[in-house]
Amino acid sequence: MVSVSSFDATSRSGERVRETSASRATTSPLPTDVQAPDGGKRRPTSRIYLPALSIVAVAIVLITIGWLSRWGGGSFTSAMTNLRVVVVGPATLAFLALFLVVERLRPAQRRPVFARGYRHDLLYTILNATLVAPLVVALSLSFSEVARRSLPWIVVPRMGGLPHWGVIAVIFVAMDGCNWLAHYANHRIRMLWRFHELHHSQEDMSVLTVFRTHPLIHVSYLITLIPGVILLSNGTIPTAFLVAYAAVVAFEHSNTNLGFGPLGKIFVSPNYHRIHHRLEGRQDVNLGFALTIWDQMSHRAIFPTPDTIRMDTGLPGRPLLVEQATQHPQHLRVMMAQLVGPFRRLDPETDQAKPE
Ligand SMILES: [Zn+2]
Ligand SMILES: [Zn+2]
Repeated sequence: MVSVSSFDATSRSGERVRETSASRATTSPLPTDVQAPDGGKRRPTSRIYLPALSIVAVAIVLITIGWLSRWGGGSFTSAMTNLRVVVVGPATLAFLALFLVVERLRPAQRRPVFARGYRHDLLYTILNATLVAPLVVALSLSFSEVARRSLPWIVVPRMGGLPHWGVIAVIFVAMDGCNWLAHYANHRIRMLWRFHELHHSQEDMSVLTVFRTHPLIHVSYLITLIPGVILLSNGTIPTAFLVAYAAVVAFEHSNTNLGFGPLGKIFVSPNYHRIHHRLEGRQDVNLGFALTIWDQMSHRAIFPTPDTIRMDTGLPGRPLLVEQATQHPQHLRVMMAQLVGPFRRLDPETDQAKPE
C-alpha cells in the first residue's frame, strides 16, 4: 500500500488561468506517449494501468452472481425506485436547491453562477441519476446476496425490545464508520486512488460535487451495506433517513462558509470537508462523511480556522484533466478523459500519473 494523497503540493498560487490551445495540445488527456524509446510501438498493455482492471473484474463477477440469483429475491425495480428517490427524488432536489441558494449567500469562494465546475458537476449529476443508478443497484443487491449466502451467521436474530430508532441509530453510526473506512482505503491504496482522484479534482466546489465520482468507485463502498445486512432481521433504514444522510454529504461539498459552531466538532460541515479537498497540504485528513469521530479517533481531524475557510481545492499538478484547464468548455471530452483516467498507465519514471 502506498499513500498517494499525502504528496507535496506544488504551488499554484493566484487566479487559475485558462490554458492556451498550444499548451493544451501538449497536455492531452489521451496517452500520447505510446512510442517506445527505440521508436517502436509499445505493447498495448503498457498503455493501461492494469490494477484498475481488478475493480472492473469485481464488478462483473458480483453483478453476474446477482443476476444469476435473480438479485437474491429482491426487486430490482423497487430498489431502483428507492435509489432514485435518494439521488434525485423531490426531497433531495429541494435540499439541493436550498443548498445552492445558501452557497450563494455565504460563499467560501466567490464564483460565477454558471462556473465551469458547476456545469461539469451537473453533468455528473445527470450521469448518476441515469446510467450510474442501475449499476449501483445491481452492485448493492448482488453484494448483499453474496454476504448473506457466504456469511449467513452475520445476520443477527431478531432482538425483542430493541426499538426501531435504536436499530436506525446503530446502522447509521456503523454505516458512517464503513464509509470512513472505504474512503480511507481510497486514499491509501493507489489503485482505488486512481478512481477517487476524480472527486478531488474539483476546483470549483459546489453541492453537486458530491456526484463527481467515478462510477466504479462504488465497488469500494459496498462494505457500507454490511451493517444493514447484520441487522436485517431487526429492521431497515427508511428511505427518508437515507435522503437526509445524502443531503448532509451533499451539503458538506457546497461552496458555503459554514462550520456548524460547536456541532462542527461532531458533524462534518462544509468548512471541515473543504480541508479534505484542499489543494495544498495532505488530503488524507477529514475523511468523515457525516461524523467527525472517526477522524478524531485516527488523529486525522483538522478543524477549520479562518485560514482554511477559503482554501483553494483541487489536485496539485492537475494529474487528471479538469474542465478549468481547457481554453473553451469541452465538458463531454473532459468527462470522457476523466472516466478513462484511472486506466491510464503510471509514468515509469515517477511512478505517478502523468500531469495532463
Ligand atoms: Zn477523499
Ligand atoms: Zn468530498
